[in-house]
Formats: sequence, structure tokens, C-alpha cells
Amino acid sequence: MAVGVLALQGSFNEHIAALRRLGVKGIAIRKPEQLESISSLIIPGGESTTMAKLAEYHNLFPALREFVKMGKPVWGTCAGLIFLANKATGQKTGGQELIGGLDCTVHRNFFGSQIQSFEAEIPIPEIADKEGGPPSFRGVFIRAPAILEVGPGVEVLADIPVSSEKSSSPVTLQGEEEKAGSEEKVIVAVRQGKLLATAFHPELTADFRWHSYFLKMANEAGDEASSSSSTINEG
Ligand code: GLN
Repeated sequence: MAVGVLALQGSFNEHIAALRRLGVKGIAIRKPEQLESISSLIIPGGESTTMAKLAEYHNLFPALREFVKMGKPVWGTCAGLIFLANKATGQKTGGQELIGGLDCTVHRNFFGSQIQSFEAEIPIPEIADKEGGPPSFRGVFIRAPAILEVGPGVEVLADIPVSSEKSSSPVTLQGEEEKAGSEEKVIVAVRQGKLLATAFHPELTADFRWHSYFLKMANEAGDEASSSSSTINEG
């Protein structure tokens, strides 16, 4: 099995290395026609405006949207999550082109700028249940987005507390409207059918459970596709 990794900008090499550790070939995708030869895709983190400009330059948006519409497994990490979201808010989002398909609203740079990047232990009940290992995951958040709203078909896989009180949380909630001392949670990982999205960077850790989880999604989709084509052949 081979998995495509959108290789315009950002941490695509790290995803390809993580896949290699799991015995899977990652194929760097830079042209629309390459999407025809793969059945699943990872969109890495990086800088979503730059990635969007490069995707536009290479005429990738129509093929990427088609890929998502066909129900092929796609995993977006960080900027890749922004790319997949139906709606992006926050700073500098005006006119930003998105692939869409994931029924959620993301807030870009939700946790602040580069120097406010952080790591946090995130409870991951669903992933730990399927992949084993510890019940939490060390999330690396680099100018990360957060998911503010999700539609009914979206399953929340991880969320983290945010607080307007700097002392009580690793994370400070953006926005002055938040009451001092209030603690809320924001969503940082979701799944909607064949779409997976994480606000953090599993490819920058040595814990490959998210990659393994995505490979299972890709395998299941492959099995479904081959059983429906054999039904067609038989019929
Ligand atoms: N803040 C970046 C953006 O909006 C995403 C950061 C990342 O992918 N690490 O594109």
C-alpha cells in the first residue's frame, strides 16, 4: 500500500518518514494527475496561505476537492486541517482558498503566534482503544488552529482545556470576551467518515498511533472499494 503526502510545503518529509517506519511508502504529491494513482492522502502542517497559493499555482484544488468528494481517506494535520475545513476564521483568513469537506469551523493560529507554540498531553480514548498504548498522546502544537464548531456527522477524537487564566492551563484562550478564570475546551482532533484531522503534529513525535489509525482507515476504504467493484464484476 502507498499513501500520498501533499508535498508543496511544510512537514511532508516527516510524514513520509513516519509512514516508512510503519512499512508504508509515502508518495510526494505535487501534481493533480498524481492523485489519480493514490487512494489516500495526508495533507501536512506548514503555512496554509502559502500552501494554498502553491496548490492554486499547480492547479491542484479541483483534483483535491474531487478526491475528498469521492470519499477517499484524507488526513489533514494543522495547516492540513485548515485546508480541509469548510470554514476558517481568525487572523489573515480573508480570501484563503480551502479544499473543504470537513464540516467544521477552524480558528487559525488559535493559541497565538510561533512563540506560544507548546506541547500538551491530550487524552485520546478512541485512538488508545484502537491502537493500544497509553491513554494520552504528546501533542505538538505549532501556531496551531483549533476547531470551534463541528457539524452533526463529526466525531470528536480529542479536545484540550483552554483557560483565560494563564496560570491554570498550558494554553491561553484567545479573545477578550472570555471571562477571567473560565475554563473551556477546544477540539483538536476529529473524524468525519473518511476524513481525519488533527490540529497538532503527530509526525514530529515517535508515537505513530495516529499514522497507524489513518492507515487502518485507508485499508478499510480499500477493502470497501474492492468488494464493491467485485460486486459490480459479479453482477
Ligand atoms: N498557523 C498555520 C496556518 O495558519 C498552521 C501551522 C502549522 O501547520 N503548524 O497555516
